[in-house]
Amino acid sequence: MPLHIECPQCGETDDLVGDRGVEGIGITCGACGARFLRDRQLRCATCAGTDLVLRPQVLTQFSRGTQLSVVGWTETHCCTSCDAEALLRSERANAPLPAEYRPRAVRPQSRT
Ligand SMILES: [Zn+2]
Ligand SMILES: [Zn+2]
Repeated sequence: MPLHIECPQCGETDDLVGDRGVEGIGITCGACGARFLRDRQLRCATCAGTDLVLRPQVLTQFSRGTQLSVVGWTETHCCTSCDAEALLRSERANAPLPAEYRPRAVRPQSRT
C-alpha cells in the first residue's frame, strides 16, 4: 500500500514527483512547485499533527525473574503536543524516555 503523501502547501496528492536526496526522499509538487521531505509527513497517531521529534528511549529486557536490565537505546517519535509532559520530564532530567513509555505519537491513547 503506497504512503499517503500530500503537499503541505496546496494539498496536492497526485502531481508529486519523488527523488532520493541527501536528506532522504524529496518530493516536488507539480501543482505549486513546493519541495518538501517525505519523511516530514509523519503524523502523530493521536492528534495527526506533524510536529514530531525523535527522542532517545531506554531499551530493557527481563533477565531472570522480574529484574529489568538496560540493554541499550532506541529512538522513538514523540509528538511535541501530545507527549509534551514526557518530553519535558526527560529534558529536565537530561535522561532518555523510560522504557515503559509509549509515545502518543506512535500509539493513540485516550486520556484517563
Ligand atoms: Zn503543492
Ligand atoms: Zn499529537
